[in-house]
Amino acid sequence: MANWTRRPEWLKLSALEPTTLNSVTKLTRDLKLHTVCESARCPNRAKCFAEGTATFMILGNICTRNCTFCAVKCGKPQAPDPQEPDHIVQAVNRLGLRYIVITSVTRDDLPDGGSSQFAQTISAIHKYDPNIAVEVLIPDFQGSTSALQTVLDASPAVLNHNVETIPRLYSEVRPQAKYRRSLNLLKQVKLLDNSLVTKSGLMLGLGESWEEVIGVMADLREAGCDLLTIGQYLQPSLEHHKLVRYIRPEEFEEYQIVGKKLGFISIMSGPLVRSSFHAAEMYISAIRKSKQKPSSSCSTI
Ligand code: SF4
Repeated sequence: MANWTRRPEWLKLSALEPTTLNSVTKLTRDLKLHTVCESARCPNRAKCFAEGTATFMILGNICTRNCTFCAVKCGKPQAPDPQEPDHIVQAVNRLGLRYIVITSVTRDDLPDGGSSQFAQTISAIHKYDPNIAVEVLIPDFQGSTSALQTVLDASPAVLNHNVETIPRLYSEVRPQAKYRRSLNLLKQVKLLDNSLVTKSGLMLGLGESWEEVIGVMADLREAGCDLLTIGQYLQPSLEHHKLVRYIRPEEFEEYQIVGKKLGFISIMSGPLVRSSFHAAEMYISAIRKSKQKPSSSCSTI
């Protein structure tokens, strides 16, 4: 096992700049919002906050699942806040965002899995400014096609769903999830709307082999997945899934090369890469490739 408290040089993080951190934290508190940046203790949050970027987590900060790698608390969540979509719009306005990532905890307690809250949030942002692109990072909705359709009907720019790890580790890392169900969700998106950009993400260091990672990448391409992020797992505490290994930057680069050969339109692979890492740039790559007109002024990025 790797020493989870002593990180290698390439994972040394920049200190959080207190003024920026406080202003984003105050904004989210004022509006009763949560950022996944804080809830999941993302290593890039200092940089993203300084650039006025944040990934909002809707439907509360208590999850009905207990993935063993995740820093989000598991428990009984509160009912969805009907004011939440408007609060997100206020935050978007105050931070001047042009590309927004919306994610959520998993809400297996809700009949629609929280899909209508996703749809209402996307619609509220588009009502405020139709040129803002919204990427959604959704849970698996327990395989419900109607929940997925509800989100797609609101016209997100990118549909992201992370497979997170290799199938062999699902039972210990994502006990309530199913690898094939996650792949099918991505496949389903392309069946319902072939023009929509799809994306997924993997984290490494949980005990997977090189061949197993390549196998997942091939499965994702087979499911029509366009964009991929690969990053290093960082163990949040002693109670979380053991960090097995730090992956060297050169190995991440090799995954990037393989990913391009497999046909991903854009792949970000590196120790500090997370789902929303350079999200707007990845979206623009996909749009350029498909020669569609971007749905936002992000084309200038
Ligand atoms: S479903 Fe998502 S938010 Fe919930 S515990 Fe798993 S990774 Fe964390």
